[in-house]
Amino acid sequence: MPVFMPQVRGPRQLRRRAFLGEVGKGTMAFAVFAPAFVAACSDDGGSTSPGTTSSSSASSTSSPPTTSEQPPITTGTRPEFPLQWARANLGFVSTYVLAWGTEAAIVDTGVEGSADDIGETLAGIGLDYSNVNHVFPTHLHGDHIGSINEVMAMADGATAYAGEADIASMGYGPITAADDGAEIFGLEVIATPGHTAGHIAVIDHDAGLLVAGDAVVTDGGGVSGPVERFASDFDQANDSVGRLAELSFNTLLVGHGDPIEDMADTPVAALAAAI
Ligand SMILES: [Zn+2]
Repeated sequence: MPVFMPQVRGPRQLRRRAFLGEVGKGTMAFAVFAPAFVAACSDDGGSTSPGTTSSSSASSTSSPPTTSEQPPITTGTRPEFPLQWARANLGFVSTYVLAWGTEAAIVDTGVEGSADDIGETLAGIGLDYSNVNHVFPTHLHGDHIGSINEVMAMADGATAYAGEADIASMGYGPITAADDGAEIFGLEVIATPGHTAGHIAVIDHDAGLLVAGDAVVTDGGGVSGPVERFASDFDQANDSVGRLAELSFNTLLVGHGDPIEDMADTPVAALAAAI
């Protein structure tokens, strides 16, 4: 249930925005609404509804991942804290902060001018950009990488990771290629091409949380699949839904639509079966 928290408005509250508190993993977070805008990934152009992000029952098992194969890269040891996540709901698109103790990752950066909103989302869980070590733009579309330069300037200790095929078009450098199976800060990169050639998702297996970018969208608690006119390769995009359906997760966070926080892998599997 959204919790209105007008008292947490920051100094930028004079701008025409409303703040909602959301709860993710028991953590108060902000949802920031910005004016609607046109972006590359969807056709509705409207604002998403406030999230109904109640606490999830998923718990961290804290079991260290083992790598019996050779993923493209494996880097970063995160502290043994339960995952906390927070959503910056920018209206049309959402970005996410994933945090373990005082170390955080950002997934997607929103449209240009979103860095302060993401900073307020960090503040909502007691962090700031100095805590951000890793930034994952899921794909090259402007509503996901529009603030990457601002975010990387603020998070000056962070490394950016993305799917190799999209990196050259992201307008920022350097970005480290994070191919399928890469494990970064305990997050596994899942190559999910088709919406764009280099689209990636990231999953925290311990917490059972998947950030799917635009590989799928959510609406009213349901999950829907790729839209052909927004896919660089529609068949590939559908195959990527099948890839996500192989995963086990409880919480699903997407670029467009509200989080699903209970047994989210079930509707994804149903979608994959229906495609
Ligand atoms: Zn997109």
